[in-house]
Parts: sequence; C-alpha cells; structure tokens
Amino acid sequence: MLEAALRAGADAVRINFSHGDSAQHVRYLKLVRAAAAKLGRPCAVLADLMGPKIRVDRATYILEPGKLVSLTKGRGVPENNVIGLTHAGWFDNAKSGQRILLDDGKLELEFLGTLKNGNGRAKVVRGGTLKPGKSLNVPGVDLGLPMPTAKDRIDLKVIQKAGFDWIAASFVSSAEDVRKLRAFCDRIHLTVPIISKIENAAAVEKLEEIVEASDGVMVARGDLGVEVELERIPTLQRNVIHAARAAGKVTIVATQMLETMMENPLPTRAEVTDVSTAALSRVDSLMLSGETAAGKYPVETIAMMARIIRMAEKNLEEDIVSVPHSDAMALMCEAGLYLSLIAGARALITISTRGSTPRYLSSYRGNIPIVVACTNEAIYHRSTLYYSMNPMRIEPVRETETVFRKIEKGLRNWKLVNRGDVLVFVFGYPIHGKHRTNTIRRWDVE
Ligand code: PGA
Ligand code: MN
Repeated sequence: MLEAALRAGADAVRINFSHGDSAQHVRYLKLVRAAAAKLGRPCAVLADLMGPKIRVDRATYILEPGKLVSLTKGRGVPENNVIGLTHAGWFDNAKSGQRILLDDGKLELEFLGTLKNGNGRAKVVRGGTLKPGKSLNVPGVDLGLPMPTAKDRIDLKVIQKAGFDWIAASFVSSAEDVRKLRAFCDRIHLTVPIISKIENAAAVEKLEEIVEASDGVMVARGDLGVEVELERIPTLQRNVIHAARAAGKVTIVATQMLETMMENPLPTRAEVTDVSTAALSRVDSLMLSGETAAGKYPVETIAMMARIIRMAEKNLEEDIVSVPHSDAMALMCEAGLYLSLIAGARALITISTRGSTPRYLSSYRGNIPIVVACTNEAIYHRSTLYYSMNPMRIEPVRETETVFRKIEKGLRNWKLVNRGDVLVFVFGYPIHGKHRTNTIRRWDVE
C-alpha cells in the first residue's frame, strides 16, 4: 500500500504519535524507508507529537442532552456517567459555563465546576455517542501540561533513535513552547526541524513569533475548527501561509481536504476547489489524514490530490512570488530564479550540504522544477516538503564540471532534460566546501 501511495504521488508520510505505540511507529518508519528505497525515491517522514491534547479513555459513552456528567482522570464509569480523561489538571483553570468539545466538536458539554472529590462536573449540550479515545478540547483554557509533555519526551527519544526527518508539534501556543521543545531535542541530541501546528486561538494570536521560532507551520484545520469559529479558518489559512512564506518557512495545509473520499470514490466539488485553492496559494505541502489512514480509497485519494495540484500549477498567475528576504544568500537564490525563468531553463539546480539553500530557493515559489542535489541522506528525504523541490542523491565529488555532468545525466534519466535545454545552477563554490551559496551558473545541455 505504501509503494502504491508513493507511486500515486505522495512524497511525505506523517506518523501520528497520538495513536499506536513506539514499536508500531518505528515499524511504520521502516516500512516507508523500504518502500522509498525500492522505488529509488525520496520521502520525508514526519513524527507528529501528540502534545498537550486530552483524550477520553477507552470506553463508549451515551450522552443525552441535558444530562449531568462527571469528568475524572483515568478510567471512567459509563454506567454512572463518569467520563474518564487522560488529563484533568485544567479543572481549576476553567470557569463555570466554559465550553467543552468532544470528538472534534461533534458533541458539546458545559463545564459547571469542580466537585469535592476533585472530579469535574458538566452538562451535556450537544449529545450523541462518544466513542473510545476521542478528543476533548477546552478552547482558551490553559491545560496545565508542560511542553513537551511527559509522553512527548518518551516519544522524542524514540524519534531520535529511529531517525525521522521532521517533527510536528501539536498545540503549540507560543514561541516559548517551540524553544522548550527545541531545548529538549538538543539535550537528547535530536537535530530535526520543527513544524508548529497552528490549531488553537493562542497560536493564532502569536502567529508571527511562532513562525519565527519554528522551521515550518501547519494549518491544522481539524482542531483549529474546534478551537476558533469555523468561518475564521479560510482567512487564518491565508495569514499563516503569508507569514510563513515571508519568513522562508515551510507550510502545510491539513485536514478534511478530500474527506468525502474516506467513503466515496469521488470528492465533492467543494473539496476539489479547496485543494486547488491551497495549491494556487503556493503552500509547500498538502496533507491527507483520515482519507489515507482509515479511508476506503487511500491510493485513489492521493492520485486525485496529485491531479488537482498539477492542474492548479499549470494555471498559476505569476511565475515567481516576491519575498522580502534581505539575506545575501536568499538574494543569490532569487537572482538564480529570475535568470532561470528569463533563460527558459528546464530546471533550477542547487547543491546542498546543509539544507538551507532549498529552503530559500523554494520560498520564492518559482514556477520551475527545483532540483536539490544532496550528498546527505537526511536532506535528501527532508527536502520533499519544500515547494517544487526534487531531491537527487549525488556522490561527494569536488570537481565542479564533473558534478554538473553527473547531475545532467541524472536529469536525462528523469526525462526532464534533453540536448539544447538550459539549466541554471545556484551553489556554493568550491562545491561541498564551507562557503555558502555564492555562484550562479548557466549551463547548456549538449
Ligand atoms: P491532528 O492534527 O490530525 O494530529 O489532530 C491536524 C489537525 O488538527 O487538523
Ligand atoms: Mn490536531
């Protein structure tokens, strides 16, 4: 199934640490690595931390509107309307009348206060069947959980040992949260870029500082749509995309992109338009979740998404988006991009040893394939998340002409270039040395 997913157009996989156990997470990582290796393709693997998220225990509850329920840490008692939760440290931070949302907002409770035995008391507002392990959100309330949480810390050690390409951090509320997470990663010698998931009101308020402190951001529309008013999602999505692009950080749009395809072989017109709109707004990556994790048509969904993206990219209005980077290296990238567009180049190529050139190159959203030639396996896989990025493995040869000829040969094998085509290289000379990007070179394919 993973091989079929990659063939259908997937170039990154998220492993959600909110579900399953460590052994499973590591096994899934190995399966993705094996599938990518078999197809000779790069594939980024994201470890998505659960973060400060509350879940209901493993029981099923029938919640009738108007009924009173208790909330407790640990196991609940469904017969007595006592709902078990993974975390209860927030009761004192919530005021009476506070909204509690269950299962992504499908069910709702009203918080009434804390009982003598320490349990919470609440009234059912919107009832229904509450299935095992569903989410619980208390919008605007400090949950009193540290960042990273105790579970995250255990998971991060597994992530460090197993070797993932990116971390996604759930329910980040400030730049300080990101810094604390990074400090913990540093302590355990885990050097992986961090994507902050924007999924609550606090994160929306502190968007700029979170973008600054992170390597990327995800518009996590599932929880965001529970924590803030639904009608705010489209404009928040636009704001996140613009803020991240201006800072040269990766953007991901996630959740319910082709939700209908969980059960049906075709999406709705509205979903097709949503995917296309995200692609036209030049987001780096689009993410599927339930559709591929538990849906009936995982491969068809990926293929459909790939088709919509390709069609959108054929109909872009501008060939480049201007970004106000002032860094000299970023300006080299911008100049290379303009040269390649004016020269009608088939591809813009960079040679990256540390991974910062692909980040800048992709931030201008050039309407041209960008190839990042990497000697480093980690950058090879990681770079697939960037806009228009095609990673290529190369040997660490130092002689410039030899490297260029090898890359040209690789591009011929990909059927991307032919005789008479123009290529543009943006790189640091001498190659694989300690210099940052300092050279732009036009290359005619003979
Ligand atoms: P999740 O994050 O799928 O891990 O909850 C994405 C979202 O909330 O949209
Ligand atoms: Mn979420």
